[in-house]
Amino acid sequence: MDRLSDRTRLIAAATRRGGGRRPVNPPIERASTLLSDRIGDMRDDSLGPVYGIEGTASQAALRAAVADLEDAENCWLTPSGLSAVTVPILALTRPGDEVLTTDALYGPVRRFLTRHLAARGVATRFHAPDATVEQIMATATERTRLILMESPASLTFEMIDVPALATAARARGVVTVMDNTWAAGLAFKPLGHGVDVSTQALTKYAGGHSDLLLGSICASDPAVSRRLADTIEDLGLCVSPDDAWLALRGFRTLPLRYAEQARSALKVAVWLAGRPEVARVLHPALPGDPGHALWARDYSGAASILGVVMRGGDAAGAEAFLEALTLFGLGYSWGGFESLATHETPQLAFRRSPPALEGPLLRLHVGLEEPADLIADLADGLKALRSV
Ligand SMILES: *Cc1c(COP(=O)(O)O)cnc(C)c1O
Repeated sequence: MDRLSDRTRLIAAATRRGGGRRPVNPPIERASTLLSDRIGDMRDDSLGPVYGIEGTASQAALRAAVADLEDAENCWLTPSGLSAVTVPILALTRPGDEVLTTDALYGPVRRFLTRHLAARGVATRFHAPDATVEQIMATATERTRLILMESPASLTFEMIDVPALATAARARGVVTVMDNTWAAGLAFKPLGHGVDVSTQALTKYAGGHSDLLLGSICASDPAVSRRLADTIEDLGLCVSPDDAWLALRGFRTLPLRYAEQARSALKVAVWLAGRPEVARVLHPALPGDPGHALWARDYSGAASILGVVMRGGDAAGAEAFLEALTLFGLGYSWGGFESLATHETPQLAFRRSPPALEGPLLRLHVGLEEPADLIADLADGLKALRSV
């Protein structure tokens, strides 16, 4: 049989023969201690974990599912999407090294680089979010040890040419890490494009219900994998079986939710882009977006998250718009079933070179509601904006 689609594989992993009579989903095994019958058994790794920090059935099943989705040899789970990015950076850099990354990096990772990592002798260089691969590599120095990619980037959603950058980095002996949260492991497979480490905030689409925090780290290279495994062991990182069980439950419907939300988000994006109050919608799946060609070349789907640049106006108008929405929750994060909205202009101030935008920057996450209802809600919001 040909390789099965992601959608089928995420489900077939549950129904595979050979496990005897059992529930469809692995049970939640809460354990610190795991008992053995004989003293010799305690040293036999083939009998499974001897201590809960190694994870029990639900963590093992989730690790296998994420590794399968990302075409990786190995997967580890971390307590958040943030730690899924910080752990590989800790594992793969040493004092004196430099990290090179985009100026549009996810904010908390930027804070980790400039606060925690800098204090331990690892400096960071930031490249322009819309830099070409040649420009990015021209920013690298002989100290550059790691290139951290986020594509599309946070808040402004610029795309970089990931396969070309991974190839250029490898030629210089630079290890690459990509935050693959936007693609949810579905729409883009970093390891297949030459990236060494792919991370995800499973908090977002895998969780899918805004009720858990979890991260994943995938890698195949043995030396890179060894460093990752050692660092996770040294730091004592582990995740609860309950959270892994919830993420595994989310995985069964992940491709359907992701595709449906992408369709709705594109409808909302097209509608907003045609409104006079909106200068631009930042979304690589939208034809005309500066990243559209790279997205169309490399990605098989899109996240349901949009940057919305208002045409002029100030924070008061943007916030009147957000206040007037009744179907969009006011809250951070994304990838859940519910639509969300935030005002992001203040976040841009942390960048080395904040972008020159026509007006306030909003972020919309499009959930599983009927898109026509969301559009009607946005129309009401724009009415409130005009009356400010
Ligand atoms: C949300 C997010 C994270 C962090 O995930 P948490 O589980 O909230 O820590 C990391 N990277 C990106 C791109 C994100 O959007």
